[in-house]
Amino acid sequence: MSTAQSAPYVIDLEKEREEIISRYKDLLRSIPGERTREGTRMIRKAFNIAVEAHKEQRRKSGEPYIYHPIEVARICAAEIGLGATSVTAALLHDTVEDTDLTLDEVRDMFGPTVATIVDGLTKISGVQFQTDSMQAENFRKVLLTLAQDVRVILIKLADRLHNMRTLDNMPRDKQLKIASETLFLYAPLAHRLGLYNIKNQLEDLSLKYKEPEIYNEIETKLKKGEAVRKRFISRFTLPIKESLDKEGFTYEIKGRPKSIHSIYNKMLKKNVTFEEVYDVFAIRIIVDTKHELEKADCWRVYSFVTDHYQPSPDRLRDWISTPKGNGYESLHTTVMSPGGRWVEVQIRSKRMDEIAEMGLAAHYRYKSDEEHANALDAMLNKIRETLNDPGSSALDFVNDFKLNLFSDEIMVFTPKGEMINLPSGATALDFAFEIHSQVGRQCIGAKVNHKLVPLSQTLRNGDQIEIITSKKQQPKDDWLNYVVTAKARHKIKQALREQKKKLAGVGREVVQQALREWGAKFDTENIVALRDYFHSSNSNDFFWQVARGRNDLAALKDPVVKNGRLFLPKQERPKDERTLEEVIKEIRGTEGSALTLGDELTRIDYKLSPCCNPIAGDDVFGFITANDGIRIHRVNCPNAIQLMSNSAHRIVKARWKGKDSVEFLAGIRFKGMDAVGIVNKITSIISREHNVNMRSISFDSNDGIFEGKVMAYVHDADHLRSLMDKLRRVPSLNMVERVDS
Ligand code: MN
Repeated sequence: MSTAQSAPYVIDLEKEREEIISRYKDLLRSIPGERTREGTRMIRKAFNIAVEAHKEQRRKSGEPYIYHPIEVARICAAEIGLGATSVTAALLHDTVEDTDLTLDEVRDMFGPTVATIVDGLTKISGVQFQTDSMQAENFRKVLLTLAQDVRVILIKLADRLHNMRTLDNMPRDKQLKIASETLFLYAPLAHRLGLYNIKNQLEDLSLKYKEPEIYNEIETKLKKGEAVRKRFISRFTLPIKESLDKEGFTYEIKGRPKSIHSIYNKMLKKNVTFEEVYDVFAIRIIVDTKHELEKADCWRVYSFVTDHYQPSPDRLRDWISTPKGNGYESLHTTVMSPGGRWVEVQIRSKRMDEIAEMGLAAHYRYKSDEEHANALDAMLNKIRETLNDPGSSALDFVNDFKLNLFSDEIMVFTPKGEMINLPSGATALDFAFEIHSQVGRQCIGAKVNHKLVPLSQTLRNGDQIEIITSKKQQPKDDWLNYVVTAKARHKIKQALREQKKKLAGVGREVVQQALREWGAKFDTENIVALRDYFHSSNSNDFFWQVARGRNDLAALKDPVVKNGRLFLPKQERPKDERTLEEVIKEIRGTEGSALTLGDELTRIDYKLSPCCNPIAGDDVFGFITANDGIRIHRVNCPNAIQLMSNSAHRIVKARWKGKDSVEFLAGIRFKGMDAVGIVNKITSIISREHNVNMRSISFDSNDGIFEGKVMAYVHDADHLRSLMDKLRRVPSLNMVERVDS
């Protein structure tokens, strides 16, 4: 990495022109595959336009600005393997944002594809990231852009890489901000897309600016150990080379140190010094072989390696049989060297190596731009799977996606030893759905490493999982809390919807039968009548509630039926009270935030409003008065609606706590035929049978009609209700009701 402090820049226009042309030619040479004439023409046009548009601009270093887009385009071509369309867009990537060129002009000159990419790049650069807690909404914008054309992200990564390479000229605070952002957002993105080379560079450069001392220390030590390392590697690889030569392999062996960032991570994670990190380098054997022989040849190489060195059995990674989600293919093993040191050996074909260095784009580097775009689309489709869950809200969607995109994958195994990749944090239930949606639906638990665990168990790298199923099992609502993969979420939601539909079918039959028994027709009109009676807004929901036993048809007993038409009484909408409650809830949040009444510990100044005389157990709410503290009203208080609509902001939700500690004054009114001893009967019910303290009682008798009112202290609404029930059983009383004041 050459990032020496630059000397003051001296402007020499003639020399600059030459330099621009030479860099442009360099760019053209780096474009993979054969270029069409149109491709070349398009690139030249983009180059000319970019030169013109940026001609007045210079970078912080003093250099002409155009160096930047040319270099970004070159990275796209040489380091990511992108073709003419991307190179064109890369050359233009800063024009719309920084110069007078408009997007419409770009579209007129280069067509919709290039314009869309340039537009995406312009939009991304307008998004402000907060590295600590990035706003979900901003993140979503980036992802939506990504979903439009993945080349936007690839070019953005190239742009970021060049900016990181030229970060020296920025002030310190900017360096820190850009470096953190790179580490937080762009390096993981590169990783997910399989661009290991770019990911490593981004991480190393970030570390260089974030922790310069540590970075320099590791860099120096790596340099110092280079000669020793080279000697070791050539000694180590000698017997392997002999075997490979004997078998006639065409191959290349590299002994490359790992990235500084990954060494630093190891030091942190294992709490060791640089000297104690045993695998600062890995040996890579790249065989040049035909596509169909790749796998067999890689394993042959593996057998040569292990002929000479003892492998560590738990460190074999076969990403050839099962490539990583981002396309990475390679065979990794760790073997013991004669010096008693573990050495990681990576074995792969030339094609696999290119993919590992440049990501999936490399697959198609020798093909046409169009095929290339198709391949990228295929990769994008995989990412889109995650986006395809229509039920998830914007935030869910970001969380799902972020999880799948950024967290490292874990590898787990089936009982037969088949490897499954899952995002880390995945549970046994995720695993079940990954195997098959049927297995997922019927999952009742799992054995992880032969131990029985619940289906919500979080899996760890290397776990072996056996799913236990039952035909009787069905997905439950709370399963959605136990899964992280988009696939499992989607399947569970789908199953829940199906269940509801099925149940609605059962309910429909129940309704059909009930109507038949009543002698009523099973038609829309009658169903609507029933729906209205049960306050159900749509038929499916109504049937569903019938099947669940929430809408009780039996409670209707013998409804009036004339000519097959069903006539139902207007049912007092029980929801009316609830609606008000719900409104209060909406305004004041959940139970937890309610004002607790009857709790001696909370000394909240409240008074029970005399207009409706609430008692414990009544549904109540608090109303903040202007100068008399909080007044408690019953939810069905005649004044409630008015209070609600005029001063909703002064409503507080309230609920009752203890019962027996408090007594409330309640009134009961009754009416009936005058009879001998009725006064005695009533007072004895109230005072003796219920052990209630009466405050006042009054009777009035007129023309044989007996009327009375009692004010008594009760504990709560239930208490009052049972008292009234007892009074109703007095034969001569035919009306008993609560009075509010
Ligand atoms: Mn740029």
